[in-house]
Amino acid sequence: MSKNESLRHIPSVEQMLCALQQDLRFAGLQHAVLADLLRQATQRVRLELSLQSKTEGGQYSPLALRERIFELAMEEKSRLFQPSLRKVVNGTGVVLHTNLGRAPLSARARDQVLSVMKGYSTLEYDLTAGMRGERYSHVAGRLESLTGAEAAIAVNNNAAAVLLVLAGIARGREVIVSRGELVEIGGSFRIPDVIRQSGAILVEVGTTNKTRLADYEAAISANTAAILKVHTSNFAIVGFTSQPSFNEIVELCRKNNLISINDVGSGTLLPLELAGHHEPTVQECLDAGFDLVTFSGDKLLGAGQAGIIAGRKRYIEKIKQEPLLRAVRIDKLSLAALEGTLIDYATGNAGKLIPGWEMLKLTETELRQRAEKLLRELSPLLPDGWQGRIVPTSSLSGGGSLPAVKLRGYGIEILPFGRSASQVEALLRDSEYPVIALIRENALVIDVRCLRPGDEQIICAEIVRAAGRAVE
Ligand SMILES: *Cc1c(COP(=O)(O)O)cnc(C)c1O
Repeated sequence: MSKNESLRHIPSVEQMLCALQQDLRFAGLQHAVLADLLRQATQRVRLELSLQSKTEGGQYSPLALRERIFELAMEEKSRLFQPSLRKVVNGTGVVLHTNLGRAPLSARARDQVLSVMKGYSTLEYDLTAGMRGERYSHVAGRLESLTGAEAAIAVNNNAAAVLLVLAGIARGREVIVSRGELVEIGGSFRIPDVIRQSGAILVEVGTTNKTRLADYEAAISANTAAILKVHTSNFAIVGFTSQPSFNEIVELCRKNNLISINDVGSGTLLPLELAGHHEPTVQECLDAGFDLVTFSGDKLLGAGQAGIIAGRKRYIEKIKQEPLLRAVRIDKLSLAALEGTLIDYATGNAGKLIPGWEMLKLTETELRQRAEKLLRELSPLLPDGWQGRIVPTSSLSGGGSLPAVKLRGYGIEILPFGRSASQVEALLRDSEYPVIALIRENALVIDVRCLRPGDEQIICAEIVRAAGRAVE
């Protein structure tokens, strides 16, 4: 049958809907949804026919043609029910991978989210008074006791926290920032833009590598409201560099009646010393005397998306009056995750309870054992000619913490036979259970640091599946 003839045999959507009335494959679908699937499938068949005609000429009988459309409609149907936002296996070794959703939640945080999302909650209800309560009250006390701050508030994310702080205390006035700290984070958060958006006026001082206290001092005017320090989260300036210490900045602000702000980015509550590098804790920044400290909820803290502002009560009160707060308020699920995580910190055992911390602290021996176990499970399943072995890896903590620190770990390296590593890497991504792997010198590498319980089985099954699939 020629292509043109085949095209004439494509049944109408109405005819197909009739034929499918008793077909269990499409049971339970609304009429309009099914019609839409059939339309999409028909379009794909048209495309197939036009491609085939260039090679061997169309070749469907009317019945086969209809069945082919139903088959494609089934594919469209499974796509319809597959969420785009879904679990992946993180084989990159980057613990707080921004593209892969940053921090995984602890068991307690997950339980909190689940219990709050299932029904009603105390979101803005005061159980004691039996009347309207405050959304921010659930975490304020916990944040204060954990950080030592006089007051604290949680908002949508850290970008919002910085925006809100500046809008609340510096709108129409000057904010001094070192040129070495005018950073861009995650492609869309640029400090100069955020300052502009807040209505504050940016005053840049110093140079990229060196800013002296005298530079800050010389920039102070009658219209200066604050000095803002920003953690240069995703890069490190090394070599001939200097910045005044936290204490010097705070002292200068005090002498001149300025507000000292520190955007610490990742904001750890636990001391983090890795490979000789030190990440300042939120408590250290507050102890140094900063009036306001801002940080993310889903980086080292280990909760869901959130931004936290901690510091002096009088400024937090002022910030709470800012109308922008309503637009950047935290939602109840993130709030539940945050409170659950803060309870983990309150137990004193956060380093074990919060997955990101556990992964950061895994020793090379533990990682090597984990990689060996995975390889033992995978090896017998590998097709003929494929090779697997243990390799050392180095990864980043991610999430804007410790930008200069390489975490040493282990992974499994797979050398596929008959196809390239990048073809296998792509097949592993193209799945209901995607595995995100690395390519290193024509080999596929899966770093085992960030594997979650059950991920090993997924990796084995997906590699076997990828090996059996045709490469396009
Ligand atoms: C990550 C980061 C931000 C942005 O935080 P989000 O929670 O992603 O909005 C802002 N400032 C610094 C220094 C950061 O590291």
